[in-house]
Amino acid sequence: MEYYLTEEQQMIRDLARQVAEERIKPVAAKYDESGEFPWDIMKTLSEMDFFRIYLDEEFGGLGLGTMGLVLATEELSRACGGIALGFAATALGTLPLLLFGNKEQKEKFLPDLAAGKMLAGFALTEPDAGSDASRMQTTARKDGDFYVLNGLKHFITNAGVAKFYTIIASTNPARGSRGASAFIVEEGTPGFSYGKKEEKMGIRASATGELIFEDCRIPKENLLGSEGMGFPIAIRTLDRSRPGVAAQAVGIAQGALDHAVAYSRQRVQFDQPIIYFQGIQFKLAEMATKIEAARALTYSVARMIDAGHKEFSKESAQAKLFASDVAMYVTTEAVQIFGGYGYMREYPVEKYMRDAKITQLYEGTNEIQRDVIAKAVLKGSIAKK
Ligand SMILES: Cc1cc2nc3c(=O)[nH]c(=O)nc-3n(C[C@H](O)[C@H](O)[C@H](O)COP(=O)(O)OP(=O)(O)OC[C@H]3O[C@@H](n4cnc5c(N)ncnc54)[C@H](O)[C@@H]3O)c2cc1C
Repeated sequence: MEYYLTEEQQMIRDLARQVAEERIKPVAAKYDESGEFPWDIMKTLSEMDFFRIYLDEEFGGLGLGTMGLVLATEELSRACGGIALGFAATALGTLPLLLFGNKEQKEKFLPDLAAGKMLAGFALTEPDAGSDASRMQTTARKDGDFYVLNGLKHFITNAGVAKFYTIIASTNPARGSRGASAFIVEEGTPGFSYGKKEEKMGIRASATGELIFEDCRIPKENLLGSEGMGFPIAIRTLDRSRPGVAAQAVGIAQGALDHAVAYSRQRVQFDQPIIYFQGIQFKLAEMATKIEAARALTYSVARMIDAGHKEFSKESAQAKLFASDVAMYVTTEAVQIFGGYGYMREYPVEKYMRDAKITQLYEGTNEIQRDVIAKAVLKGSIAKK
């Protein structure tokens, strides 16, 4: 499919493809095995200005928006969905500042984030508040010129490796979701520590863990927007970041297809490479078509966002839902094409299958995406009557 990318977009895509091929692919299995964080790759990405891609030029960014972010995330994920996540989750953690930060907050943090001097994270989820984030227990109590945070966030990507976190906490528990607010919390703030690091099925090169707040005092200047805006900030952030998950899913699926095609050419059974069997060809055709549809949906919503549309929750959820289901389907078929070898750690495709699974779960499970989409569809049908 021809997407008529601009010269700058092509440049980002080609550069990300090169980094993925030359730097990430050779170490993907090593990081998957060890579960260590790929600091060397993050250093490469910052030296090559990847963290500038989606940020405004005013603050040291390249101004290439959601489309730039999506292109880079897709290509990096083609080599390793877990390594790509250190990059993509930094965008997730930075988005609330980008969308809702005031001038002072942006001037203070964005240049360092753009330069890749620090990674970021976004913390909404808690042990008893997953899909239903309104059940959050973390509180932020105003005390003079400070807010005092208490509580625990879990399953947070980039926990322990980021220096900058956006935290959603309740400033008025009696008001439920309307009483939540968003804060910037820096690593090293007294009362802020890291808890358990998770051992995961896939994306093992990405760090996932707990953030613990015990009478953690942060200056009131770290409040994003105003008190009570925590949920609107979280929702607008996720609307913008879900195309990034969709791009991660497209990249993972494409990487698995690449391996499946190469393997089908060289694996001989019944005296011929298995690629000559129509049963295999039809699988490859189905996989390639689904990937292209997922990519087209992902790029379309990214372009909508960059064109300045105000409302894109439905489209963003559709891209994330569709692309992640495609990633699960394609990676499972890739394992099938590899036969028994596909099930072995020694071969690359079982990792793609493990990595694909998370795209159906985080930034809202796919059940929640269907809920978002259904609500928009119902609203539209009522409005037309
Ligand atoms: C590796 C990893 C990284 C993550 N990174 C982050 C991060 O950086 N920041 C962050 O804040 N969170 C993060 N998360 C959390 C993630 O977004 C949540 O796990 C997810 O939103 C689901 O919440 P839960 O796990 O509590 O599941 P639950 O909400 O308990 O859901 C359990 C099941 O019930 C279903 N369900 C729930 N409600 C409904 C409903 N209304 N209708 C139909 N079905 C429903 C769900 O779809 C799911 O199948 C991460 C999670 C993982 C695993």
